[in-house]
Amino acid sequence: MQQNKSPLTRIFIFLTTMAVTAVLLYRYGEQWLRSLILYLSTAGWARQIATDFPPAWQVASRFIAGQTSQDAIRATQEVNQQGLSATLNFLGESVNTPEDAAVAREEIIQLLQHIHQSGVNATVSVKPTQLGIHIGPEVVHENLQLLLTAAEKYDTRIRIDMEDSHVTDTTLNLYRRLRDEDQFGHRVGIVLQAYLYRTQDDVEALLQEGAWVRLCKGAYKEPHDLAFAEKADTDANFLHLSKRMLSDEARVTGMFPCFATHDEALIREIIQYTRQHQVDKESFEFQMLYGVRRDLQEEINAEGYRVRVYIPFGTAWYPYFMRRLAERPANLWFFLSNLLR
Ligand SMILES: Cc1cc2nc3c(=O)[nH]c(=O)nc-3n(C[C@H](O)[C@H](O)[C@H](O)COP(=O)(O)OP(=O)(O)OC[C@H]3O[C@@H](n4cnc5c(N)ncnc54)[C@H](O)[C@@H]3O)c2cc1C
Repeated sequence: MQQNKSPLTRIFIFLTTMAVTAVLLYRYGEQWLRSLILYLSTAGWARQIATDFPPAWQVASRFIAGQTSQDAIRATQEVNQQGLSATLNFLGESVNTPEDAAVAREEIIQLLQHIHQSGVNATVSVKPTQLGIHIGPEVVHENLQLLLTAAEKYDTRIRIDMEDSHVTDTTLNLYRRLRDEDQFGHRVGIVLQAYLYRTQDDVEALLQEGAWVRLCKGAYKEPHDLAFAEKADTDANFLHLSKRMLSDEARVTGMFPCFATHDEALIREIIQYTRQHQVDKESFEFQMLYGVRRDLQEEINAEGYRVRVYIPFGTAWYPYFMRRLAERPANLWFFLSNLLR
């Protein structure tokens, strides 16, 4: 059905959806809008309309370094020149066939090679659903093994991003299985999301295991029986978990915490805590997204803290971009005004 619609009709539907969304925001508030944008981020029909519409990419490219790994390396060189490190992400998620997962794996192996050849300071972040977690645990495990073999060869590291709560357990199991395989243990890291109630227990377990963990707030649509409904509760949990990850106990086990947020108040509280408890600046890092709060990235770095920038690239930009819109509804006005222009 979708295929038969003319480009103009599609654009009309998309713009109408966005305009209706804006009106509903005004009427019902931000929480509702976030849910709608997160729904659209997974809707195939919306993805098709947006990706068929060239101006949408121009707006999305504020958050995405480009479509090729060369673009990503160029963006990495720029952030490296400012003293920041990077983690590169080849965009893509929710693949349904082993062949598609293998294509993504090969692209990421090439990326690892480019990182090595160009000499940039970068690791790589990958999504489990891009590498076949929905197809089966053996498919994703084998793909990650091959990626870690390449990471060993090119002397870098791989972080497994955390996606929605359907895959939290499988992703953690996968991470532990790979970490316990002798040859790559030190090359693989994981992510936890402060909006999930379970994360308190996951932090305690990973703390005992001395893991390399990125803590973020969480970017997916989750039911209220699994995740905090109020943003203030997620923020408070983030700070509480950060302190645990910076505790003496965590340092003894060798945990290396990474705090992925642009929340300036939260970053200032974490810094204050590390000063009060004499935590070495080299023993943790802050992480932020490409195109978001560059001023803050540079400011924190200038104060002597480690900052890593998450740099996505590729053509499968739609779901990533929509999650960025959902995080900050003000981005929607920016998006709409640019489209209309
Ligand atoms: C390096 C990195 C890796 C991540 N990896 C994952 C992951 O694996 N799994 C996962 O679920 N989530 C991941 N996220 C996303 C994360 O969960 C949040 O959704 C996102 O970071 C927004 O929350 P915040 O902590 O920045 O603060 P918020 O409290 O949402 O925002 C604080 C301030 O940051 C700025 N800001 C935040 N988001 C945006 C935006 N999109 N556009 C413009 N300004 C913005 C605004 O100034 C805002 O006032 C990652 C985030 C980062 C930074």
